Amino acid sequence: MKSIKELYRIGTGPSSSHTMGPRKAAELFLSRHPEAARFEVTLYGSLAATGKGHMTDAAIKETLQPAAPVTIVWQPKIFLPFHPNGMKFVSFDSEERLTEEWIVYSVGGGALAEEGERSGIETPDVYEMNSMTEILNWCERTGKNYWEYVKDCEENDIWDYLAEVWRAMKAAVERGIDAEGVLPGPLNLRRKASAYYIKASGYKASLQSRGLVFAYALAVSEENASGGVIVTAPTCGSCGVVPAVLYHLAKTREFSDIRVLRALATAGLIGNVVKHNASISGAEAGCQAEVGVACSMASAAANQLFGGSPAQIEYAAEMGLEHHLGMTCDPVCGLVQIPCIERNAYAAARALDANLYSSFTDGIHRVSFDKAVAVMKETGNDLPSLYKETSEGGLAKDYKQME
Ligand code: SF4
Repeated sequence: MKSIKELYRIGTGPSSSHTMGPRKAAELFLSRHPEAARFEVTLYGSLAATGKGHMTDAAIKETLQPAAPVTIVWQPKIFLPFHPNGMKFVSFDSEERLTEEWIVYSVGGGALAEEGERSGIETPDVYEMNSMTEILNWCERTGKNYWEYVKDCEENDIWDYLAEVWRAMKAAVERGIDAEGVLPGPLNLRRKASAYYIKASGYKASLQSRGLVFAYALAVSEENASGGVIVTAPTCGSCGVVPAVLYHLAKTREFSDIRVLRALATAGLIGNVVKHNASISGAEAGCQAEVGVACSMASAAANQLFGGSPAQIEYAAEMGLEHHLGMTCDPVCGLVQIPCIERNAYAAARALDANLYSSFTDGIHRVSFDKAVAVMKETGNDLPSLYKETSEGGLAKDYKQME
């Protein structure tokens, strides 16, 4: 597995696979052809189907256009076999000769991969063990915890990096809580986080707690929907879950920053295992791979903060994922708004439930996290493309019918 720095990326929303990945691909291609006279970019499959709503063309044009004109070709009906989010970059010289043709895929969480690669083209693998079962066994053998495995494998600057991630997450919550008004796009969706935050304050402790978690998740997801700076955890669409849970726990239980960073390390490890063995891309495996994985990461982080054993943390992570299995990706109008924003709020609440559920046990359970990941992958393969970020099925289809 690669560094968890590849999983947690600080950047602007609304979509890691539709804006962050394509922007990075455009930057790479431009660095190889700064002298090009023109570019042609073809977007395939899911990337083309929901690219307009997700502002994929804008991300590519903003990068390439200052150097040379760009033509974008949309091919929503053509799915390249390797991954549904395919892109072809072509450059031409001043005599209209083709100088390079490059096919690359935006495989989720802002990562890029070329054909045949599983999880990205940017950095080497830094983790030797790639499954939770192996890592859990290592924890039992050594007496150490998951975050210590992260510390052993990553470079020394990992804590500085995670501190930056945590700062960006907190800033997104706080900006989102204060922001009011309407989100960009044709749905005219009103931001809700600030109202939830105010209303939650009027309730007694247990309801207030639930209301605040909703508010924090809404805040970050609404920031994402309006192109604000967020952290992929594991993706832009699912970026509200982990910060909501950690922000709430840090505030109410006064967990120190270093403990929050260790929780982030463990959450990153969970996300990494899914990314390596299955997918964190809604276009490839549906929303179970985005919000389901975010819930799993947040469940593990919460359980660790409350002193869970490695087995209990693994159980919490498994619960967070298992109970999102089969969840489809059907963003209305191709925007990361409905159902994505509310879905983050629900998943954050569910992560706290998974933590609690696991903490009532000794960590022994039947379905391992690795099994849930394998089932998620299989389920994702079995889902028709209607439910994988094409905005042609599910809620997206119903909305069109209501229009
Ligand atoms: S439905 Fe889920 S997977 Fe699809 S765009 Fe929204 S958050 Fe991402």
